[in-house]
Amino acid sequence: MSTQAATEDLAAVIGLEVHVQLETDTKIFCGCSTDAADAEPNTHTCPTCLGLPGALPVLNEGAVEAAVRLGKALHADIPERTTFHRKNYFYPDLPKGFQLTQYDAPICQDGELEVRVEDRRRDIGITRAHLEEDPGSLQHVGGSIDTADYTKVDYNRAGTPLVEIVTEPDFRSPDETRAFLAKLEEVLEYLGVYDAERDGSLRVDANISMVPADELAGDVDDAALEEANRTEVKNISSHKGAQQALAYEVTRQRNAIQRGREVEQETRHWDESRGITVSMRSKEAEKDYRYFEEADLPPLEVSDWKERLEIPELPDARRERFREEYGLSSEAASKLTSTKEVADFFEDVAEQYDPDLAATWVA
Ligand code: ADP
Ligand code: MG
Ligand code: ZN
Repeated sequence: MSTQAATEDLAAVIGLEVHVQLETDTKIFCGCSTDAADAEPNTHTCPTCLGLPGALPVLNEGAVEAAVRLGKALHADIPERTTFHRKNYFYPDLPKGFQLTQYDAPICQDGELEVRVEDRRRDIGITRAHLEEDPGSLQHVGGSIDTADYTKVDYNRAGTPLVEIVTEPDFRSPDETRAFLAKLEEVLEYLGVYDAERDGSLRVDANISMVPADELAGDVDDAALEEANRTEVKNISSHKGAQQALAYEVTRQRNAIQRGREVEQETRHWDESRGITVSMRSKEAEKDYRYFEEADLPPLEVSDWKERLEIPELPDARRERFREEYGLSSEAASKLTSTKEVADFFEDVAEQYDPDLAATWVA
């Protein structure tokens, strides 16, 4: 970016990595219950999710079904076979010393999700969505991660099924990411694979760079994208958090560039209480993880799962149908389809009484 003229217009380029907790009764590779909200620490554990020597993983069919349904909703390609890999790193929340995840054969690839921001339609490309296990959780006692006296670790969460959804760098403003996350949650909720109320059920890493604006006419120049130094902001847990963290980064990066300084390629942490992002570490490279295929899980053939598994009518289609079938305004149709539960209830009432009255009452 050093060649950039300080006066040049800059536009934000943003891509998201969204971790979503899938609603299953048991963990992704063992039979431990995922319902650990009120449980004592380390009571929902077994040799597999504690990573004890010799314990073997068994894949949870429900987690795979949820990912396939999500893939269908995102118009993604679901390959004939999908595989699991070990992502190696050392951290106390990771009992095995590696995370079981997917690498070069993820369960979903090349999808898209349509979002609307103030009546502008944007199709956000989905690069991939893959299954993985959540690590455990750490509790720092007597301070933050750098100042705590000691840290406690709870493996109840270790092995909870996640799907990581990676988007193309298709967002051009923090507002668009907020609309996307809201839409994604709506779709997940319609599919019945997600509980928004659950603590930590949605976690976002936001990648952002500033690119010369004249290169943004139409499609973004691939070279400009490659060249731009980007930051990855971690620890975002809400739509609003994503929007705020990104707005902060837009200002910070723009100021740096306009003062002739280079934006460092790094990982930053969103400090929600202070409303700022802080530098965490230089970004690790892929080779640091020493990915290799998990020999204890055979490749999974999923070609016929896509035909077998059905998905319900999704929010956009239902909104459109409500407008046509019941003569509702866009606003009323949006309100009545925001969750599947409300939409089902409205249709029940509309069938038995009068659609206009039903719309008013239910809204
Ligand atoms: P990594 O392996 O470092 O996480 P990836 O190439 O897999 O990197 O991309 C991760 C995320 O970064 C994706 O969401 C992608 O859209 C986004 N991204 C890629 N290039 C840029 C860029 N120039 N500016 C902002 N985000 C980007
Ligand atoms: Mg990343
Ligand atoms: Zn277990």
